[in-house]
Amino acid sequence: PLQESDPVEDHQITVCIRKRPLNKSEFARQEVDVISVPSKDEIIVHQPKVNVNLKKFLENKCFKFDYVFGETCCNELVYKYTAKPLVQTVFDGGMATCFAYGQTGSGKTHTMGGNFQGKTQDCKKGIYAMVAEDVFKFLKSPEYKDLNLTVSASFFEIYGNDVFDLLENKARLRILEDGYHHVNIVGLTEVAVDSMDEVIELIERGSIARASGQTSANRNSSRSHAVFQLLLWTPGTDRIHGTFSLIDLAGNERAVDMNPPNRQAKMEGAAINTSLLALKECIRALERRGGHIPFRGSKITLVLRDSFIGEKSKTCMIGTISPGMASCEHSLNTLRYMDRVK
Ligand code: ADP
Ligand code: MG
Repeated sequence: PLQESDPVEDHQITVCIRKRPLNKSEFARQEVDVISVPSKDEIIVHQPKVNVNLKKFLENKCFKFDYVFGETCCNELVYKYTAKPLVQTVFDGGMATCFAYGQTGSGKTHTMGGNFQGKTQDCKKGIYAMVAEDVFKFLKSPEYKDLNLTVSASFFEIYGNDVFDLLENKARLRILEDGYHHVNIVGLTEVAVDSMDEVIELIERGSIARASGQTSANRNSSRSHAVFQLLLWTPGTDRIHGTFSLIDLAGNERAVDMNPPNRQAKMEGAAINTSLLALKECIRALERRGGHIPFRGSKITLVLRDSFIGEKSKTCMIGTISPGMASCEHSLNTLRYMDRVK
């Protein structure tokens, strides 16, 4: 498994997987862990199968990524190898994006937003907060302090074709392209921040807004993409020096669910499917460098367009995996998707 001392590699696109531990209720159900992490960059799914003679056996499927984080890895370690190296990118005037992709319940929000204990969330331990902490450190560093950059934060949700402001009562917002082909979210709340306390307050506020209304039939955070952005501004101008976008994607299980329970679920599944496929195509195009990037394929890719086309842009994707046998098919879907992004 990955050790603290392992070197952090420099990639334009980093693709990694995080396996979460079995939780209490899975233990109670005697759920079997079917995922193993034999090395720092490999993951194996031990898929139960039945052959023609009705004999049960395990089929092992191995995948390789830039890094694989086992169930004992904490958020700090995941951060060190994924988003942390991208802070430098943003200070050097580039764009950085970090995605969490996976099935609902596999640990996307835990990774990005912070640890959950019961109903409360410790946002300080999530990648959103850790990025902000390093951004403030860089601002004060001898190398960058003369730039006098300022920081602002925004937090929004993309649900189907709609954008909702998580810092303003989930106000519904419009996406517009200006004359310079810049994509703007009209009226999006952008809060100037210069301390961790302020950032934590925003993450908490946005996370609570995102989770609210979860029980109603037509809104559920697992069906939306959440985007937390930190923007660095050049003083005295309205020029952006760099942007860090952190995205907690919609659960991918609906996209692959062949039997959605009703019409709405079917439409949502189709919308999520479209957006996750569009995302994959954009990242693949990005990796090829140059050529056509199909960012119009979905709202999430449209909104992140400027991050994709930047010459100096860097991306990392964290695929999150539930360890249980019951999640086997979903885990394989996540691994195949991530494998194709690579
Ligand atoms: P998702 O956002 O993908 O739907 P969550 O992040 O909400 O999933 O995680 C589901 C549950 O599993 C939460 O209670 C969370 O605290 C727990 N969990 C997820 N990942 C881990 C982890 N790496 N270690 C411990 N608990 C985790
Ligand atoms: Mg979540």
